[in-house]
Amino acid sequence: MQSAVCPGSFDPMHNGHVEIIARAANLFDEVVVAVSANMHKTPMFSLEERIEMAGETFSYLRGVTIRPLRPGVLLTDFCKEVGASAVVKGLRGAHDLPYEASMATMNRHLTSLETVFLSADGRYSHLSSTLVKEVHSLGGEVAEFIPRAVQKRLTDAGYRGHTR
Ligand code: ADP
Repeated sequence: MQSAVCPGSFDPMHNGHVEIIARAANLFDEVVVAVSANMHKTPMFSLEERIEMAGETFSYLRGVTIRPLRPGVLLTDFCKEVGASAVVKGLRGAHDLPYEASMATMNRHLTSLETVFLSADGRYSHLSSTLVKEVHSLGGEVAEFIPRAVQKRLTDAGYRGHTR
């Protein structure tokens, strides 16, 4: 059985993430979505909320599980723990490559962990969690870019995280 990990902070999850994870689930028997607690900035949504939103979003898809990636845990160690042989990453464009490629090389040197890059779908390549939050905080409509589980929380949160 081949398992892969899709890591990220998912603060919040948007349709670019959803599409990459669904495609990873077509390629691997099992996909573990690793929701990172290790943020440089204070997240808008708590780790528990981010895990809940991811769980609701993928409840329909067999073979996708959601796990927290605790602070201080190396991704390579996490992958060993869950028995994953690869990490799957989405590339939004050429600008994502330098950082992602060096991280992939480091991970392969550490534990032979492979990284599979999937190119982002054109419908979602402009999406980032930061942009979704920013547009929402200014009153823009972001519903078409985020899963239903996130829409509800974002509405409930109002303009939480708004820095103006
Ligand atoms: P970070 O861990 O830098 O906060 P995110 O949680 O936003 O990153 O995203 C996690 C992963 O999801 C990224 O490393 C990337 O592989 C993928 N990703 C992010 N945005 C998109 C997008 N718009 N389209 C496809 N994949 C994406």
